[in-house]
Amino acid sequence: MVSDMSRKGLIAEPTSRFFVVKCPECSNDTQIVFGWSTLVVKCDVCGKPLLEPTGGKARILGEIVSELE
Ligand SMILES: [Zn+2]
Repeated sequence: MVSDMSRKGLIAEPTSRFFVVKCPECSNDTQIVFGWSTLVVKCDVCGKPLLEPTGGKARILGEIVSELE
């Protein structure tokens, strides 16, 4: 896997199990999502999807604020 610090964009491949994700649509930056979720996770505040399942690691659609173990 290539580590590229210059990579931009909001989509990242999760490596941990749980993440704190910032919603790109509102000020909610405390949404905790499961990185291997099989369900779409929506923002608690505005309902925007923050994570979508891919069959493996979920795709996180917001900005990852921090990773939880
Ligand atoms: Zn939101």
